[in-house]
Amino acid sequence: MSSNNRESAESGVDGTPECNILVAIRVRPLNRLELEQGSQLVVHCPEPDTVLVQCGARDRIFSFSSTFGPEMTQQEVYNGCSVEQLISQAVTGSACTVFAFGPTGSGKTFTMAGSVPPFDGRTQDPGLYGLMHRSVTRLLEEISNKEQAFTLSASYLEIHNEQVHDLLNPQIPDSLPLRWRKDRGFHVENLRTVKFDNLDGILAVIGEGMRNRQTSAHCLNSESSRSHCILTVEIGIGPVDPRNGSNSSKWGKLRFVDLAGSERVKETGASDKTLMEATAINRSLLALGNCIMALVDPKRNNHIPYRDSKLTKLLADCLGGNGVCLMIACVSPSPLSLMDTMNTLRFASRARKIRNKPAVCMDAKDKVIRSLQQDAKELCAENAFLWRPFQLLSPGTACPGHNTRLHQSTNNLTVTETGERRGFSLLPSSEDSLYWMLQEFLWENESLREQNKELLRRMKNCQEEQQITQHRNRQLLWKLQELERLILSSPHGNTGFTWENIERLNDSPTAQLPSPPLGILNYSRTPAGQVSQVFPVSNRCGSQQDQDQQQPDQTLHHRNKSRSQIGRLMDQHQRHDDKKLLPHDLLPASYNSVVPSAPPLPTTPDQPAKQQQSVNR
Ligand code: ADP
Ligand code: MG
Repeated sequence: MSSNNRESAESGVDGTPECNILVAIRVRPLNRLELEQGSQLVVHCPEPDTVLVQCGARDRIFSFSSTFGPEMTQQEVYNGCSVEQLISQAVTGSACTVFAFGPTGSGKTFTMAGSVPPFDGRTQDPGLYGLMHRSVTRLLEEISNKEQAFTLSASYLEIHNEQVHDLLNPQIPDSLPLRWRKDRGFHVENLRTVKFDNLDGILAVIGEGMRNRQTSAHCLNSESSRSHCILTVEIGIGPVDPRNGSNSSKWGKLRFVDLAGSERVKETGASDKTLMEATAINRSLLALGNCIMALVDPKRNNHIPYRDSKLTKLLADCLGGNGVCLMIACVSPSPLSLMDTMNTLRFASRARKIRNKPAVCMDAKDKVIRSLQQDAKELCAENAFLWRPFQLLSPGTACPGHNTRLHQSTNNLTVTETGERRGFSLLPSSEDSLYWMLQEFLWENESLREQNKELLRRMKNCQEEQQITQHRNRQLLWKLQELERLILSSPHGNTGFTWENIERLNDSPTAQLPSPPLGILNYSRTPAGQVSQVFPVSNRCGSQQDQDQQQPDQTLHHRNKSRSQIGRLMDQHQRHDDKKLLPHDLLPASYNSVVPSAPPLPTTPDQPAKQQQSVNR
């Protein structure tokens, strides 16, 4: 499988929530040495998720995802530790890691690989098969039940004295380089991967790796691991591209990590080579502990010291990253190992608080498609939302972009009226169709963006116009009130002229009009009997009648013009009561000389100067 176009999906693309890593505890039975010394069990599992430690007079209780006492079989541990859940997630594209940790001789290798390594030619008791054997069996079963195409490959490496070695290619004595790449994270270069499609294939890989790993005997374990071993099964999901042999879709990962145990050199009697190994093991386990401390520290800054060791670099994705993780802490039940047991349980309790953000590992192209799909969905929703006010204004309004563009159906893409995409396959038949489909998505999104921008602009214009109109209405209302006040306060204000009276007169068209307030206003009836012309005679009234007599035609024309203007103003005033809408242009030029002008329009910082001018006009 080519790794060129691999990229881990960002968390949240699939709405995947954060989750704590799973931590299980396994307590091994007392070994021969401990029984000979007459040790009693001091570590118990009273509940399936509780560990009780008898520390002198005091009992200490810890709780974990699952716990397994000394009597638990390999099958029971496999069934109860949720590893099957991880296998299912790996098959759908997650990076899943199971790792065993604990002091030396506590049963890590037994838990992961079983009692007798399968490589030594002896037939292993099926009841003693370890997690690796059972998990790969289950993995093969699971993918055989699926319709999708899968490709499986495995690699096996060890970190010995801080050097990475390929357990499937032991001829290379040099340490393999460990590199970081944005799309892959930390990875070992030039590692041999072996393809397999059946159980024998993967068991051969495990056997080969187990045979090549570094072990030696010391006082606490006759076959002590001197290195951290990592078996990685990669699961390519989707059809293989015949041109480059890579999967064109997603891939999952199932990783089994058998850590070397922490050692007290005084107790193991390590010297020379084993002393050097013990130092390297303890140093890398310390780095692992520091990363876990940093990850669960509430006051932590963003720095997690993954780079302090090769082990932590390789485990970075499952510790606070995008992977799914199950830790199995192995402990001895003997009082002789009480201090190590307590340290391991405290370490495990801390690790339980680590939160990962599991994400599907997917091909870069698929990632682009998914993110475009997401974008398009959001844009469609936004578009529909923006169209709503316009449709309310005129219910028959069509959404041009929405209907013409979005109803197009290309490849497997269909967009419904509500903007949802349906029937879109992530696996295009060829590279070309994928290219066109991506193009279509890009055009589609671009068009929606443009449309939304235009709708936003129109909405903003409407709001501005509405504001201007409201202000004009306020001005007119204020002026009308002022006019009324002037009439009432004039010496002729007692003529009965009020807006209420005019309305009453309109209701009874035959009623006699009261005398107009001389020098201030004049009014008349329309042929239909409506009081439609109310106009100021202006403060020039003293000489007005004389002038009328001198130039009858001109004066009559001027007065008729004013009458019609004020009449329109009255109409508008009535309309204002209904709709609060009055165009200011209807005010006669002489009006402002009689009635003081309204207060100025409050200026908002974002109001364009042009609009301000038009309002003040
Ligand atoms: P570690 O890998 O932690 O150093 P091992 O897995 O090598 O320890 O176990 C040390 C010894 O204890 C082995 O001989 C193994 O068979 C035995 N052992 C460990 N756990 C169990 C168990 N649950 N049941 C029976 N024997 C066990
Ligand atoms: Mg071991």
